[in-house]
Amino acid sequence: RQSLKIGLVPADGIGREVIPAARTAIEALGSDIPKPQFIDLLAGFELFTKTGTALPEETIAALRECDCALFGAVSSPSKRVTGYSSPIVALRKELDLYANIRPVVSVAANPSGKPSVDLVVVRENTECLYVKQETIIATENGREARATRLITERASRRIGRMAFELALTRPRKEPGKFDDVTIAEQLVDSAVYRLFREPEIYDIMVAPNLYGDIISDAAAALVGSLGLVPSINAGDNFVMGEPVHGSAPDIAGKEIANPIASIRSAALMLRRLGYIQGADRIDNAVDEVVRQGTVLTPDLGGKSKTHEVVDAIIKRI
Ligand code: NAD
Ligand code: MN
Repeated sequence: RQSLKIGLVPADGIGREVIPAARTAIEALGSDIPKPQFIDLLAGFELFTKTGTALPEETIAALRECDCALFGAVSSPSKRVTGYSSPIVALRKELDLYANIRPVVSVAANPSGKPSVDLVVVRENTECLYVKQETIIATENGREARATRLITERASRRIGRMAFELALTRPRKEPGKFDDVTIAEQLVDSAVYRLFREPEIYDIMVAPNLYGDIISDAAAALVGSLGLVPSINAGDNFVMGEPVHGSAPDIAGKEIANPIASIRSAALMLRRLGYIQGADRIDNAVDEVVRQGTVLTPDLGGKSKTHEVVDAIIKRI
């Protein structure tokens, strides 16, 4: 590749503060990656309130021309708003990004120490309750809400395959054949219980869409903050980085959003595309800043602003 065309969709709330941070980190890599070309794209609830569209056709079309993308976060209203549906849910389907891969890793205080949490949540990204077949009907006993929860064999197979492929690359690597990977089935409630009591037993957790979302937010609490946990939405032909957190309206505009989840999402995206050295440089810089502990945002007990954390990371990249 001569250049790397990267779509940027900050969308709502702190998405607009952390996506520029990820961009800066990518720019800092210099010749470790093909020259990045950033394409700014619109989506989100705020866009919907202004224009009546949450995901413009142009955004989808432009993303199809990109090599990869970064998505910030969307605000979803808690009450149904006529005509609105989540652009991220739509994009995952539109681009067939059927896996949401979410590594949750604690940074050990001692650089040579082992992280106590080092797992990857592999969340199915297209089905479950997110198929948006929802109705409210009036019955004799009052209103009744119904939603379809869809689980197909096809989607289950491909998410399973993605998890197996990932298993073969993990530190606790299995011998190299899918047959050698150990599988343990577990119910979601006790899985979360065990996750909190003995997080070190988990390596990869594969789950349907909704459970995968809940498990990864829970795991984020174990490593200190949602502001640390990155993800990629991955399909067979495209990858889109996205922090696990939402638009965080409680802190939006205060310049204190933790940019690390977003910056690590950029690293994950680059890693998936094969730019290992660039990805490593970003991750190592983030590790150092977290380990040092002097420049951190308030979610991690620090006093620093978003841009100060970004600066500290860039300096180390
Ligand atoms: P949230 O993830 O936005 O925030 C949860 C808590 O974590 C808040 O206290 C927030 O301040 C904190 N937090 C999150 N990210 C942080 C960061 N980078 N730095 C510091 N603190 C951070 O979840 P929520 O409050 O339940 O949802 C807010 C909105 O985001 C809702 O409209 C929801 O629908 C939406 N949401 C979107 C996505 C997405 O775009 N994929 C995911 C989750 C929630
Ligand atoms: Mn979530």
